[in-house]
Amino acid sequence: MNVRDKEFCILSLGSNIGEREKTISEAVSIIEDNGHISGLKRAGLYETEPVGYENQPMFINTCVSFYTDYDPHELLDFTQSVENSLHRERLVHWGPRTIDIDIIKFGEKVISDERLTVPHPRWKERAFVLLPMSELCDYEGEIPTDKMVRRIGPFI
Ligand code: ATP
Ligand code: MG
Ligand code: MG
Repeated sequence: MNVRDKEFCILSLGSNIGEREKTISEAVSIIEDNGHISGLKRAGLYETEPVGYENQPMFINTCVSFYTDYDPHELLDFTQSVENSLHRERLVHWGPRTIDIDIIKFGEKVISDERLTVPHPRWKERAFVLLPMSELCDYEGEIPTDKMVRRIGPFI
């Protein structure tokens, strides 16, 4: 695999059920151990007010960046398999979940099909994405202040 064939990706991870930090940490370990992924970097952990469906516990959110030789849909297959292995339940859209892993950016690719929209359609509205993401790459845009987002420390 030629280094030039690898794309720079950013994922957003969130959890608001159970041992939130432990679940995120387990998800990142699985991602880092995948042979199609290299150079993984972790942002800090943020505690954040829920967005969308508001009557639910606070989230822990973070972002990771890495290089991958997967194509975008292969990466989505992989991130969904990680969600499933961490017992993600999908009861209410935007509701509580043990783990949510979203693809924020996949190189410079722009995709919109029935399974995948990249860049993620709502990333610029979400401080819980933009704050950890801006620890990993340059981001010059505005960061919304409508929701409480608090950095609670480095990634454990
Ligand atoms: P949001 O996308 O607003 O953060 P969510 O993460 O709660 O909502 P999910 O239930 O995790 O939504 O995902 C619903 C569907 O979104 C998935 O089945 C997946 O096919 C699709 N999807 C589209 N674009 C993306 C993306 N960039 N990252 C992850 N999933 C995506
Ligand atoms: Mg999401
Ligand atoms: Mg999701």
